[in-house]
Amino acid sequence: MRSPDAEVAVIGLGVFGAAVLWRLAAAGVDAVGVDQFAPGHGFGSSHGGTRMFRTACLEHPDLVPLARRSGQLWQELAEAAGEALFEPTGGVLIGPRTGHVVTGTIAAAHRHGLHVQVWDATELRDRLPRHAGIGEHHAGVWEPAAGLLAAEGAVRAAVRVAEGLGARVRTGTRVTGIELVPGGVLVHAAGGAVRARQVVVAAGAWLPSLLPGLPVRVLRVPITWFQPDDPAEGDRYGLADVPVFIRELDDGTCLWGHGVHSGTELKLGLEDHGGLLREMHPDGDDRQVGSDDWAALTRRLDTALPGLAATPSRAAVCMYPITPDRQFVLGSPGGDARVVVAGGDSGHGFKHATGVGEVVADLIRGVSPRVPVAFMHPDRW
Ligand SMILES: Cc1cc2nc3c(=O)[nH]c(=O)nc-3n(C[C@H](O)[C@H](O)[C@H](O)COP(=O)(O)OP(=O)(O)OC[C@H]3O[C@@H](n4cnc5c(N)ncnc54)[C@H](O)[C@@H]3O)c2cc1C
Repeated sequence: MRSPDAEVAVIGLGVFGAAVLWRLAAAGVDAVGVDQFAPGHGFGSSHGGTRMFRTACLEHPDLVPLARRSGQLWQELAEAAGEALFEPTGGVLIGPRTGHVVTGTIAAAHRHGLHVQVWDATELRDRLPRHAGIGEHHAGVWEPAAGLLAAEGAVRAAVRVAEGLGARVRTGTRVTGIELVPGGVLVHAAGGAVRARQVVVAAGAWLPSLLPGLPVRVLRVPITWFQPDDPAEGDRYGLADVPVFIRELDDGTCLWGHGVHSGTELKLGLEDHGGLLREMHPDGDDRQVGSDDWAALTRRLDTALPGLAATPSRAAVCMYPITPDRQFVLGSPGGDARVVVAGGDSGHGFKHATGVGEVVADLIRGVSPRVPVAFMHPDRW
């Protein structure tokens, strides 16, 4: 290809693409980021105010090095942006002692020598009295390094810092297709194609529409915010009382969220590996949240986290693009270095985004990533 418009085109400026753009620009690579919306929008997977950061990754022990590196890079990004993006609050993973949340977290921590504390049921009840219904068979794993990342704020910061380092950004531009040509790619978009030597596809829930061969399904995930039933009780539901948590309930569902961070609301959600969450199309209009969405959650809150209003004060729809093994898709399909995919986040990717950005920038430049990534390769199916 003669005279490309950019060395690398990055499709999608959610948290993955924004971090990729930042790391490419930091490495001196000429890159252009393209998104159909503006960074920090609320139509993908990177909105909702906050995201949990933790390093003892129950989803896969090999994610721990990526999470640790991401933690360092979040700090670097915050310094470059001149704003706080991470609040170290500590976080707790709760559930049956033999359940996947507690055992997965402990396994990841032990494998990598992470500092965590394991609390038995008595200690859990003493330390976190807002969490009700704790039985003798329950335990908690406290990770002091966990905390809260800014969601939209982090996306905007990464894009802004990338632009400051020379990256270009085209917003309001929908990519309609990727065409492989000798020596590069044509990224077809409204307003004309972008010619680049390589493309990074960080399209979140839209990944299957650009690369249909990847086994990614999109789940619709409601996010809800609740106030205490009695407003005078607000002080008892702060982050110290309800720290960032994931709690596996005895029926196998997982409650997640955190106490009042800023304002007056707790942020809460519910998920499972079964039928609670339905599939959606990212371009569809299934974005209204109603009582059907929060009924399953509020039923469980009555016994697990009582004292909250019966209905949420706010709600939004987010999406999980999930893969069959619930690990990310990171690498070049078929080994073709012209295309690098960063997606399939399966609902646990935000914390890793800066590390993902660095891995992708390494792959683009033909450098071996410093953390294990083989288990996320797009050709593993
Ligand atoms: C409710 C909820 C809670 C979560 N909680 C956590 C948490 O606590 N901790 C954690 O680590 N992770 C969490 N996650 C997961 C995390 O938020 C995601 O892993 C992350 O946001 C994925 O980012 P992304 O950039 O891949 O996707 P997105 O943010 O969706 O970005 C994709 C971008 O691509 C753009 N795009 C797509 N197609 C095109 C096209 N054709 N042309 C132009 N632009 C295009 C979109 O407009 C979008 O901006 C949560 C997710 C949800 C839904």
